Amino acid sequence: MGKLNRTYTDHELKIMKEALNEVMTKYETNNDYILERESDKKSFLYLFKGLFPKKRTCIIPECKNRSVRNSHTIQKAHSLKIIAEGNHIYSPIFNKKTLKLEMTRLGINQASTFPGFCSKHERIFSILENSKDVDSEEAVRLQIFRTISRELVVKKSELSQLLAMKDHYLKFRKKKISELFYAASSEKISNMAFPKSITLDFEDKNLAAMNDEIEKVSSDIPFFTSNFFEPLYRFIFFDGFSDDPLYIYKIEDSNKIPVTLAGRGSFHIEKDGVQHEIHAILNILPLVDRTAFYIAVELKNREFLEYYIAIFQQTGLPGLNLAETWMMRGSDHWFIQPSVWDELEDDRKEQVLKDVLDVGHHIAEIYDYSIFNSLRRKLTATHEEACESADPEVRRQIDSEISKL
Ligand SMILES: [Zn+2]
Repeated sequence: MGKLNRTYTDHELKIMKEALNEVMTKYETNNDYILERESDKKSFLYLFKGLFPKKRTCIIPECKNRSVRNSHTIQKAHSLKIIAEGNHIYSPIFNKKTLKLEMTRLGINQASTFPGFCSKHERIFSILENSKDVDSEEAVRLQIFRTISRELVVKKSELSQLLAMKDHYLKFRKKKISELFYAASSEKISNMAFPKSITLDFEDKNLAAMNDEIEKVSSDIPFFTSNFFEPLYRFIFFDGFSDDPLYIYKIEDSNKIPVTLAGRGSFHIEKDGVQHEIHAILNILPLVDRTAFYIAVELKNREFLEYYIAIFQQTGLPGLNLAETWMMRGSDHWFIQPSVWDELEDDRKEQVLKDVLDVGHHIAEIYDYSIFNSLRRKLTATHEEACESADPEVRRQIDSEISKL
């Protein structure tokens, strides 16, 4: 209830109480009541400053140096170049002006860059950019380390922006409720003072969503730091850790799948009646004549990961299904060959961009629609030729792949 500057009569106080009740009832019934003005709604979107923080420090523990602006998560000289056309690739990026996720054309110099390491630590990764052997054990561990590092930089920036947004929202809400209350009562009360402090402790749906997200990101950061980043950091930077701290599974596909991805995903597996959520670091690296998939989990989750891989091995086109599922249910940090995207029908493009935003699935749920249409057509035709006297199981797998087109 408001504290007011002058003394009001009992009648005036009654009017105010009714006005405040009316405003609060409207707001509690429809939480967006205070956000009805388009400009208010937009003011929140403009708070979002992009994925990365302005102040950048090297992510390596104890290093206080400023990070370079553009560390590549995915090697420019290899994976990105292999799928690029005219040195460009496409990536799904949220457009603040149109408020839509859009497939955006990027040069390979910008693609996958983030402010992660200082110039001294960045040099460790020059082995990656310069080496031809991109899938050597050393290169793969550096690649996974960079992927985790980027995830952490993104998460930390996300957390500080969420906290700033919540703060902005609480101030905005207080001001808005005060204005609405003042508008509803001041016409009936002469010389009414603008209320200075209205205390609100109601958690509306916008606030609840922000609080949920803050809680999630706040717990993700220490989890990924202590279970993925730090063990791999010690493994790479110090001697004496001869055993891999993570379980890394490599899947090779003999086809050139025109996408590269570096991010994280999680899958749910049930064992002995208990649901386990397993977090994984995902990388898809296109090579000159094939595609390498890497999935890294904590050592204790080895068995779950093998079970996960088996799900895909039971499909007709494991590589394509893994790629599409990781892109749609795992990370949105991926880059696709422009002509592959351009040849999709508009309906499919729309569906894919909508599904990228849908976070209600995990990476053990195979994506239902085809993205790599030409390759899927070619491979299913080859399979069909190869199995003239169709084994019913193979036939079922081929049909299932065709139905995704
Ligand atoms: Zn450093």
